[in-house]
Amino acid sequence: MTSVLHRPTDDTKLSGLPEDVRARLQDRFKLVVPARSAADPSPSPMLEEAPSNPDIQPIVSLTNVEKVYTNGSKALAGVNLTVNPGDFLFVTGPSGSGKSTLLKLLYGYERPTKGSILVGDEPISNLRGDRLAMMRRRIGVVFQDYKLIPKRTVAENVAFVLWAQGFTRKEIHRRLWPTLKMVGLQGKAQCFPDELSGGEQQRVSIARAVVNTPPLLLADEPTGNLDADNSLQVIKILKKLNSIGITVIVTTHDEHLVRISNHPVVQIKNGRLHHLRR
Ligand code: ADP
Repeated sequence: MTSVLHRPTDDTKLSGLPEDVRARLQDRFKLVVPARSAADPSPSPMLEEAPSNPDIQPIVSLTNVEKVYTNGSKALAGVNLTVNPGDFLFVTGPSGSGKSTLLKLLYGYERPTKGSILVGDEPISNLRGDRLAMMRRRIGVVFQDYKLIPKRTVAENVAFVLWAQGFTRKEIHRRLWPTLKMVGLQGKAQCFPDELSGGEQQRVSIARAVVNTPPLLLADEPTGNLDADNSLQVIKILKKLNSIGITVIVTTHDEHLVRISNHPVVQIKNGRLHHLRR
């Protein structure tokens, strides 16, 4: 990471976090966590071209991205998108329109056929091996089907991420409990996934995605298997994470969830991206 570190002028949203966690959140991509007043709910600017404020480096930047799978399926075409640090972006569109493909490109699970993709200042589509693995540590991912380890408890599922990244026992303990509390599951820490409701399993998967404080969270249809109440609860948690500075990109085909929010929305239709609300 070579970009200049910009300090936010107002970090009140991060003030509830331990000092080192806050510093890590701000510094990991060496990007601005923009100062957006809690009293100002207006969506942050999200531009298709270069951002108007040259001091803000986008956290995600796609230029002319095309994705054609090896079987000839054209998933995305001519996609341009800029997401700034601290944004909360909904990606909507019908099933098969290319939403998951977009997120898979962003965490380097798929590579674009054409175009460039920057996450922070790293061209993620060119990264391989250890560099890609290191980059993925800075990106939390939540899936529709939770992907929990069935034979591990809630606490173990979440702690596993930290353990795999070499965190000390003390640090794992220090991070685990506030994260479980944040998703309302501190009382279920010793349960196994099959002892939880779908909504609870999804909250475990969110805890797992953010326990190492990634600056970017990608959620692929996180409410796809949930009823209306649980869907709202999941979106509320994602908004809470966004309010402490995590950039959130969430795909959904649930029009209702999008309608009741005031966050920016893009729609993908037949592989083309359109801005519905900025
Ligand atoms: P969405 O998430 O909006 O439902 P996807 O991104 O999963 O859409 O899929 C977009 C298009 O790409 C679809 O036509 C789908 O069949 C195709 N597709 C997705 N993944 C693959 C794959 N691994 N191999 C071939 N085609 C794929």
